[in-house]
Amino acid sequence: MSENLSNLLKEDRRFEPPAELAENANVTAATYEEAAADRLGFWAKQAERLSWGEPFSEVLDWSNPPFAKWFVGGTLNVAYNCVDRHVKAGNGDRVAFHFVGEPGDTRDLTYAELKDEVSQAANALIELGVKTGDRVAIYMPMIPEAVIAMLACARLGAPHTVVFGGFSSDALASRVQDCQAKVIITSDGGYRRGAPSALKPAVDQAVTRCPDVEHVLVVRRTGQDLGEDGWTEGRDVWWHDVVGSASTEHTPEMFDAEHPLYVMYTSGTTGKPKGILHTSGGYLTQTAYTFWATFDHKPETDIFWCTADIGWVTGHSYIVYGPTANGATQVLYEGTPDTPHKGRWWEIIAEKGVTTFYTAPTAIRSCMKWGKEIPEKFDLSSLRLLGSVGESINPEAYVWYRENIGGGSAPIVDTWWQTETGGHMISPMPGVTASKPGSAMLGVPGIEVAVVDNDGNKVENGGGGLLVITEPWPAMLRTIWGDDQRYKDTYWSRFPDHGYYFAGDGAKLDDDGDIWLLGRVDDVMNVSGHRLSTTEIESALVSHPKVAEAAVVGAADETTGQAVCAFVILREEAGDGGADIVQELRNHVAKEIGPIAKPRQVMVVPELPKTRSGKIMRRLLRDVAEHREVGDVTTLADSSVMNLIQDGLQTDKAE
Ligand code: ATP
Ligand code: MG
Repeated sequence: MSENLSNLLKEDRRFEPPAELAENANVTAATYEEAAADRLGFWAKQAERLSWGEPFSEVLDWSNPPFAKWFVGGTLNVAYNCVDRHVKAGNGDRVAFHFVGEPGDTRDLTYAELKDEVSQAANALIELGVKTGDRVAIYMPMIPEAVIAMLACARLGAPHTVVFGGFSSDALASRVQDCQAKVIITSDGGYRRGAPSALKPAVDQAVTRCPDVEHVLVVRRTGQDLGEDGWTEGRDVWWHDVVGSASTEHTPEMFDAEHPLYVMYTSGTTGKPKGILHTSGGYLTQTAYTFWATFDHKPETDIFWCTADIGWVTGHSYIVYGPTANGATQVLYEGTPDTPHKGRWWEIIAEKGVTTFYTAPTAIRSCMKWGKEIPEKFDLSSLRLLGSVGESINPEAYVWYRENIGGGSAPIVDTWWQTETGGHMISPMPGVTASKPGSAMLGVPGIEVAVVDNDGNKVENGGGGLLVITEPWPAMLRTIWGDDQRYKDTYWSRFPDHGYYFAGDGAKLDDDGDIWLLGRVDDVMNVSGHRLSTTEIESALVSHPKVAEAAVVGAADETTGQAVCAFVILREEAGDGGADIVQELRNHVAKEIGPIAKPRQVMVVPELPKTRSGKIMRRLLRDVAEHREVGDVTTLADSSVMNLIQDGLQTDKAE
């Protein structure tokens, strides 16, 4: 059992669902029973949320694992499901998106308007030569046209690949090359931290290396001067010219349930991003169902806001596909949380009456760092449900979120899932689960997950190990684009006899059998024969009142094999933390979770290295802790952060 991860952190706080929410909840205890009794039957029933052309004849074909086919023989049009049918049902006047631009411009887009614009964009793409099966790259800020572009591609059966607008032209070029996109949809620029920031020049640069690209379709957002060389006649076309003049009539074609919907590259936290392929029927079924279930969504009264960028899978599944398949009303915000001031998010929630808010732990910890006085200035009473995604949420950050944003009563759904899984896999159900801060709790109804040891045996309650998914699920990735072998090797080769999908994450079961995510298995530390996860030690550090963020890594150590090295960011009100801060934090960890986890070193840093989606890149910190040249930083949000950290350390002999 020494192979297994240590279970160090104890957490006794528990939050029951509010009575009113539980009474009217979409998901009840009976839903779990129903799904357990007949899993495939349950998913067949969830597929009825969608409108199908031909009905499917088989729920799951798993005759050639790990290549799954869901809803075999069924046909559908994803865009029709997300847009047209709501208009047909008489809800055309419902707002699909309350768009808020960073400079303060706003635009409300109803489902009827969305239908017209998606149809126009689809007609324009046809004009530009896009056919079913062609790939289209989308490189845009968070503006309504980005969503419209994605839905227009879906309407044509032309798989999109959305590349985060903050990425460099190199990153764009490599993704466009990898999936051989024929058209790139972009904008002149977007607004970022109070200023226009150009996008088109990066596309121009990328296209010189992408011979397959025939057209670049450009939305005018900022009105920036593109310069003499900034426009290539014949190749470049303005959105307002070709989309604006196109017909609002377009008849959607039905595609096979397994028709490719998009390729999305992973965040790249652990290395080179992988092009994850998602298809249509299963993906839309699971995202539509989980959006409805996890967020207890009520389309008539809820206003949902997911702060993720559409360049990440969270933006795909919980801005574009899941919510619109449910006819939801959402906020779409272009900018950053601190522009023009640090209360911008809370101001928007108050203004738009947001009921359901979905963000990442890294953002919550930033808000903790800035102080609770900021959200206190705004009326957040419309919020009834909060969500978290991207990393484990530290118990302290969870409680801060619940108290200061959720008014002490809104439940938090901590949703574990991956680009690869397409939709939520482990999460509390807000009307059923008595949640524990820091735990993602249980598999969602219809999903089978387990924590296993190295041999694939399920661990007992109280034990730690590897997180696996034991049965195929509708929104699962179908392969890595163009590389079936890498798909098999990466996800299915760890437990070939069991046929488990290996997620790459460590997890533990508590005494009640609830699941706690413990971080990446690659980041596990081995200290004097104990296998320690990053998450628990980080959570212990964040529970100290002076700490806002923490990252720990294992560094080679002569006596213990590896030693725990911690990097921390202090809260603003803590100043420099005082002369004894290092000792104070080391002792705090020893007291909270035990002497074995006591960091050898604690380094106070101004920032941590994060990916563009806000995840901490521990492998770079490991390089620092082991005094190596820092490795590949291309997926880092801000590459100067590593210099900041190293410069700081030279003057600070932390012991
Ligand atoms: P790459 O696979 O390229 O290294 P990535 O894993 O960061 O990138 P994503 O698919 O965006 O790319 O992230 C999925 C990962 O995020 C999960 O495997 C897990 O490590 C982490 N994660 C997501 N949600 C949660 C959560 N609620 N609790 C704990 N960890 C989470
Ligand atoms: Mg991953």
